[in-house]
Order: sequence, then C-alpha cells, then structure tokens
Amino acid sequence: MRIVDIREGSLPISRYADPGIPSGGLTTSLVAVVTDQYRDRRPVIGYGFASIGRFAQGGLIRERFAPRLLSATDADLHAVADDNIDPLRCWHVMMRDEKPGGHGERCVAVGALDMAIWDAAAKIAGQPLYRFLAARLGRDTETPQVSLYASGGYPYPVDDLAQLGAEIRRFLDQGYRRVKIKIGSAPPDQDLRRIDTVLKLLPSADCLAVDAMNRYDAATALAMTRHLASLDLMWSEDLCDPLDFSTLSELARIHPAPLAAGEALFSRAETALLLRHGGLRPDRDILLFDPAHCYGLTHYLQIIETCEIAGWARRAFWPHGGHLFSLHLAAALSLGGSEVNPAAFQPIGGLADHAIVLDGQAVPPELPGIGIEGRASFARLFADL
Ligand code: MG
Repeated sequence: MRIVDIREGSLPISRYADPGIPSGGLTTSLVAVVTDQYRDRRPVIGYGFASIGRFAQGGLIRERFAPRLLSATDADLHAVADDNIDPLRCWHVMMRDEKPGGHGERCVAVGALDMAIWDAAAKIAGQPLYRFLAARLGRDTETPQVSLYASGGYPYPVDDLAQLGAEIRRFLDQGYRRVKIKIGSAPPDQDLRRIDTVLKLLPSADCLAVDAMNRYDAATALAMTRHLASLDLMWSEDLCDPLDFSTLSELARIHPAPLAAGEALFSRAETALLLRHGGLRPDRDILLFDPAHCYGLTHYLQIIETCEIAGWARRAFWPHGGHLFSLHLAAALSLGGSEVNPAAFQPIGGLADHAIVLDGQAVPPELPGIGIEGRASFARLFADL
C-alpha cells in the first residue's frame, strides 16, 4: 500500500456569496493523494483541503510533507488489520523529525494531507467517512443526524444591515434554524446594530451566535461582553486574542451565557493551556477547534481526548470550517454539531448538492469518503488538479 502521487494547488476563496466583494485575498490549499489501490478499475484518490481562514500552504506541502509520504514504504503506511492505508501511520510519517512546538501553520499543511488520507482510506473501505471513522473507533452511527448552524454574516461594504438581513432570511428559507454572524471588524455600535437586525428575524436569541474573530482588544472585548451578556445568545465567539487567556477568563467571569473559543489554537499543547488558563466552563462553553487546521483529524482526536480528561463532554465541540469534512466528524464522533457555510467560501463551504436541511439538521452524504464528489463544483477543481 503506497502513495504514488500527490497533487497540490492553491484556490482563492471569498467570505461572500459574491466573490467580487473584497475578501482579503484569502486562499486555501487543495490536495489530491493518489494511492496504488484501484476500485472499479480507477485509482483511489483522496481529496483534502486546508479548510478556510488560514491561507494556502503549498510551500510546506510541496517541500516538506508530501515528499515524506511519497518516499514511505508499504510497511510505513499499511494497516495490516484491515488491508487499508493507515491514516495514523501516515501522520507519523509526515511528522517524522518535526520538533514539538513551533506549530506556525505547518499544522494546516499536515491537516490538508491528513484529510485526503482519511478520504482515501474510507474510499478504499467503500464507506462514507463518518461510518469508516466510527467503525475504526468502535462507535455507533445509527443516527448520523447532525445539528447545524448557518455561518456567514460578514460585514458588507455597502448597505450592510439590509444585505445582512437578506442573507439571514435566505438561511432560514434553506431550513437552518440557527445562524452565526461576524462582529469585531466594525465599530461596536455598528456591531450592536447588526445583532439587533438579525435578532428581529429569529424566534429567540439563542438561535444567534456572534463571532468577533479575535479582533477586539482587551478593553473593547470587556466592554462588548457587558452588552452581549444581557442578550442570552447561543454563544459569543473569539472575543479577544486567542492566546490572551487572562482576558478570556475575565470575560467568562462576567458573561453567564456560553462563550466559544479554540478556532485559532492548533495543537493538543495549546488546548491544554486554554483549558487550564482560559476560565472556560465545561457545563456551557463551546470548543471550536478546526480539525483540518489542527494537524488533521488524527491530531483532533487527541485534542478531544485531552478535553474529555479535563471534564468536557463531546456536545461542547462544534468544529470550525462549515464544510462536509466537519459534518462527517460531528456525525462520527457525536459532537454538539457542525458549522455550515451555505454561501461563503464557495465551493468549499456547504453540504452536498441536493442535501436537505430539515429543522436545522442534516446527515452526511452516503458516498465513499468525504463525498466531495457529491458537490459537483468542488469535485471539478480536484479533477483539474
Ligand atoms: Mg470564528
């Protein structure tokens, strides 16, 4: 069992349904991992991507991590027990000679490749990723129904409140019941107007989460939190710098409703620091680690284990990303739910073509692997690789 080729490319992605609205030049990496296995006389190819929000990682993939996989032997990669490629063995091959710490964004490069390897392994087994992963971990998947929220609501340069309201109405028409919008990049008064605009469209405040994208300084975060605390929202996310644990623990002290954090932390070691010093409360707060950014699913499982040992339940995990990969993990691992980007970050964001969202819930596609082939516009990009 060997990896015989790895293709990689960078893809521009936009925070808006209209990619003409400036979006900071954001990119992501696509990777295709070609195995020496065949199904229906075609080589099994795993597809992966670097989630959204951290830019493409082509240099690290090409120069460092892909060559290690390509030079690995059958004995390095082969899961003898089920005659498949072993994602855990592949992960250790990629991380060979890497030193602890210094995560930088190598975790994102490894995560994109790790995703493609899990996709390939599930395809070799002929199973959707959620079922393949659950079987591997000895978990039950009788009800793969996942709770969702629709994510978007980035600030519009023109007619912000009107366009925000229209975006949220589209989410509700598509079957979503809960939504998340961005705050933190406009002045606080405008952020409060955005929240008010969306609350008027929702049945209750606990259907709305707000995400400040770590943009507030400590003083602004504390001031905004005093406003947010009275609203009883679904959660308030990333209100201060991701590593400012003293401010975060102060926010937790004055904000009785749920806080969400962890999207910009990428390792088990950083997770342990967050749990120890961030003041978060396992009975209500939300953990957002992005499985693709955290050195991939292989390392994300270790992050979950670290949190469980510290008393956290799996319902606290709502993985960042808003795409099919997060959906599979939420189903397989019985997590709280999954973000979905129905309009932003196309064609990566969203569910499979023709997927049905019913009362804010959906199931992963029944295609082998992640099911990217079930999103025609996304699959075409991999075919081009
Ligand atoms: Mg966020």
